[in-house]
Amino acid sequence: VDLPIHDAVLARAAEFGDIPALIDGTDGTTLSYEQVDRFHRRVAAALAEAGVRKGDVLALHSPNTIAFPTAFYAATRAGATVTTVHPLATAQEFAKQLTDSAARWIITVSPLLDIARRAAELAGGVREIFVCDSATGHRSLIDMLACAAPEPQVAIDPAQDVAALPYSSGTTGTPKGVMLTHRQIATNLAQLNPAIPAGPGDRVLAVLPFFHIYGLTALMNAPLRQGATVVVLPRFDLEQFLAAVQNHRITALYVAPPIVLALAKHPAVAQYDLSSLKYIISAAAPLDARLAAACSERLGLPPVGQAYGMTELSPGTHVVPLDAMRDAPSGTVGKLIAGTEMRLVSLDDPGKDLPAGESGEILIRGPQVMKGYLGRPDATTAMIDTDGWLHTGDVGHVDEDGWLFVVDRVKELIKYKGFQVAPAELEALLLTHPGIADAAVIGTYDDDGNEIPHAYVVRQPARTDLSEAEIMMYVAERVAPYKRIRHVTFIDGVPRAASGKILRRQLRERA
Ligand code: ATP
Ligand code: MG
Repeated sequence: VDLPIHDAVLARAAEFGDIPALIDGTDGTTLSYEQVDRFHRRVAAALAEAGVRKGDVLALHSPNTIAFPTAFYAATRAGATVTTVHPLATAQEFAKQLTDSAARWIITVSPLLDIARRAAELAGGVREIFVCDSATGHRSLIDMLACAAPEPQVAIDPAQDVAALPYSSGTTGTPKGVMLTHRQIATNLAQLNPAIPAGPGDRVLAVLPFFHIYGLTALMNAPLRQGATVVVLPRFDLEQFLAAVQNHRITALYVAPPIVLALAKHPAVAQYDLSSLKYIISAAAPLDARLAAACSERLGLPPVGQAYGMTELSPGTHVVPLDAMRDAPSGTVGKLIAGTEMRLVSLDDPGKDLPAGESGEILIRGPQVMKGYLGRPDATTAMIDTDGWLHTGDVGHVDEDGWLFVVDRVKELIKYKGFQVAPAELEALLLTHPGIADAAVIGTYDDDGNEIPHAYVVRQPARTDLSEAEIMMYVAERVAPYKRIRHVTFIDGVPRAASGKILRRQLRERA
């Protein structure tokens, strides 16, 4: 773990040699381990020759492609800090991230070149834009493979130097740049991989975006560190996704709850041969146990396992180990990984530690806790206390055996007449109604100024007659009176972040 991230991930690349490291799920183009290793060294040399220096921030602006890891590891080998950018960002959003991170370099793809150019103009300070594929007027990674310059020898201090600067999802506010050192990322991989080992012969499907820390870890760093093969899709389209699982004989899926929902409910699933799958892991947002069970039963798989983490934790602390997937209690996000400490503290009395069974805020201490938020010392101090405990802002509890259950975010809890209601619990219950395709719950205010649980519901096409009264009754029959839905609004779709999280903030703005 005391290697720079590119060396930590690619330590066994020579040994894996001709094994396919990456396969383009749309056209089958393949890169072997030997190629990724050689290519990223050549591109690193070309980046150094172009002027990239240690500590420079390089913005990687690309959907998932087989070139993405080469671009990422080349940049870190040249000494840069990589800030990954949402491929659907507008020029303004991208410019904000460039300014915030003081980025000097961009690597993009030709279809996004115009946006990258406009963002660079708006932000200023960008010295050069490179493209992964060929495009006129800019140096491409393909040209850079021919670079004759020697490989850069940059002295990287894994404990101090920032390898990646991902931005948090922006679910609760403006996305924050999270400084993760080489050691933090490499340590977390070493902590997580033994729980869910994947080696040569295993094939994962990279449909979650590499730019987000979950995809970057579970679908890029972890499989490439262990010799598995990554089949890459640029975006989530259910039929394309199912066809890729079938045609590439995918063995493991790392997904977010909306994909579990699609696998459990969508009729198209039955038309594909998904028998190569061995397990599914979901993370990034609350997953209901009933939904998870419906998905695994339908596919004839072990129960969907979960993992828990956040950008600020490089990103993982909990996972259901592969060998415990069948027996883990349903709904758990897993067990604490090695070398990490957790506390659960009372929401009313933050100094008080809670026993098993009681819900409180999850606090984490360990080698994977971020270095800090870029340029926001106050936010960093608010998050990490003087004893090194990171306050996650999430509510959870453990059972007697140490399995963690995440309830929701502290900030999202609805206070109904003094009682706390977790929107995630109501959303999960709503999804069990056959007439409901999707749902989100937030707290809004009634005429007397009391906060109430308010559901936003997407009806199934065959049930456009589904009424507010029917939904309210369905919930009322199944929960304690204080948790009842007090108001329903019908919508066409639930707003979600790329990582699958419900953007309750957007619904609140609408309300
Ligand atoms: P921001 O911090 O910008 O508001 P965000 O918290 O959504 O956005 P991420 O770092 O991508 O940004 O997400 C981490 C959060 O995701 C956790 O704090 C937690 O709320 C949620 N999460 C992750 N895994 C799980 C899980 N298995 N179950 C429930 N929630 C999860
Ligand atoms: Mg967060």
